[in-house]
Amino acid sequence: MTENTAPKSFIHEIVENDLASGKYGGRVHTRFPPEPNGYLHIGHAKSVCLNFGLAQQYGGKTNLRFDDTNPTKEEQEYIDAIKEDVRWLGFEWDAELYASDYFDQLYDWAVVLINKGLAYVDDLSPDEIREYRGSLTQPGKNSPWRERSAAENLDLFERMKAGEFDEGSRVLRAKIDMASPIINLRDPVLYRILKASHPRTGDKWCIYPTYDWAHGQSDSIEGITHSICTLEFVNHRPLYEWCLKSLDIYAPQQIEFARLDLSHTVMSKRKLLRLVNEGHVSGWDDPRMPTLSGLRRRGVRPEALRAFAETIGVAKTNSTIDYALFEHTLRADLEPIAPRAMAVLRPLKVVIENLAADQTEWFEVDYYRHDETKEETRRVPLTREIYIEQDDFMAEPLPKYFRLAPGQEVRLMHACLITCTGFETDADGNVTEVRCTYDPATLGGAAPDGRKVKGTIHWVSASAGAQAAVRLYSPLLRTENDDPDAPDTDDFIAGLNPDSFETLTAVVEPALLQAAAGARFQFVRNGYFYADPVESKPGQPVFNRIVGLKDSWAKQQPK
Ligand code: ATP
Ligand code: MG
Repeated sequence: MTENTAPKSFIHEIVENDLASGKYGGRVHTRFPPEPNGYLHIGHAKSVCLNFGLAQQYGGKTNLRFDDTNPTKEEQEYIDAIKEDVRWLGFEWDAELYASDYFDQLYDWAVVLINKGLAYVDDLSPDEIREYRGSLTQPGKNSPWRERSAAENLDLFERMKAGEFDEGSRVLRAKIDMASPIINLRDPVLYRILKASHPRTGDKWCIYPTYDWAHGQSDSIEGITHSICTLEFVNHRPLYEWCLKSLDIYAPQQIEFARLDLSHTVMSKRKLLRLVNEGHVSGWDDPRMPTLSGLRRRGVRPEALRAFAETIGVAKTNSTIDYALFEHTLRADLEPIAPRAMAVLRPLKVVIENLAADQTEWFEVDYYRHDETKEETRRVPLTREIYIEQDDFMAEPLPKYFRLAPGQEVRLMHACLITCTGFETDADGNVTEVRCTYDPATLGGAAPDGRKVKGTIHWVSASAGAQAAVRLYSPLLRTENDDPDAPDTDDFIAGLNPDSFETLTAVVEPALLQAAAGARFQFVRNGYFYADPVESKPGQPVFNRIVGLKDSWAKQQPK
């Protein structure tokens, strides 16, 4: 078999071609440029994996650059969280940089443009600017202030910087072409007045560069080779190139790829912030959140997120990835590494009548794990009273129901065969207790007479097991997507799944009581669980369900 050496994506192909042609002297230098206005989400993880992954693969470098040009929305808390999340994903940056470090240089370059007659101070109001811009079908018209002399522009720009003018009263604009079919080239705004103190530059500035003026030049200063961004920025590329060309400075290339959109969740920081602020979730790290901190808290491993990024790949057109694919990736990641143990999530008591009250049968059971050759074992006690799942018993079994039912025999996993002899109900007819007998000849193995049973159920000793809080999570949204055609509408709150979070008091086998915070298990037949790293106490674990065993949530979806 020949090894597949084809580049993984069109971006890999571009990079390989550039390496082959020596375009950047054999360098690959990428950057991940988050705006510190929220926590990273799984969409950002795709970008992190791509940018850092390219550098790793081709022996290059990656900068972590905070795109901190809007002081009104940015906070140190977000900067710290972003760094923690990138490291958790498994990547280390070559340099930690801030667009705000370049404010002096960006200002000087704006002066260069003014001197070249390529930028002017405009006195139109924000509304007027919008109106003068025209539309996709209508050309824009020139501002009356467009023909100011370089000297006048310099004077006004300096005074904007000095704080002489009010917010919204003046902006600096590039002088390009108000009739351009590319709206971003219709004299885009380069600087606006914002009388806000900046987390890093304090009160030094009251004018701040726009994304378009800051981004390409920051890339240029850092010697970035491939400036990778999402498809919304295709329309900004001509401006990105115009700025660098007008300044006659080193120009990286901007490459756009499709952003990750995952079904049944929201994925913009603005919306996630709203969920946090309005208390729809417990915080940025609520395990239902698609944030990296939420997924981490739920128990997802960074390996799974890297594998997911690999699986979905890098495309040139947008599409929505089904949440089921994400869950599939989580199971594939956990299946080989998570030890298996028994926990009963919705307990129903079973009394084994022919087992004495003071009798305990012990079983030495290994934690089955795919990728371990030598298994660890734990001891599992069987006592007269045990718990099974409520839905593992039916008083009036349906056809092909092979679990416990009057007169029916099942296997208690790892232990023995039991036969149901009766049950109790409360006044409402709910089953409160089930009676059984066990066959001592089947303890720890098969029936000597060779008889087989079709059902095997898990169970936990009532006296030796222990209660533990278990939390189940379902997708945040009831529907596949909040209105994809109007990503900025606020209707998504109405689409929140009211049942996305459920807390149960489960009964777990004794070995699980010793679970260390942060340990992961497969609870047989119930899914993959994580001992919550914050709330678990020694001897008192709290388990988060990372993911069910099968497409459990697909069944719950409203028809
Ligand atoms: P959001 O809209 O969620 O707030 P953003 O694009 O404003 O995201 P930034 O902090 O500006 O967030 O993004 C940092 C980097 O992550 C950018 O290069 C951006 O293109 C990338 N990115 C953001 N969201 C996604 C996504 N859903 N899929 C892939 N890459 C993304
Ligand atoms: Mg943004």
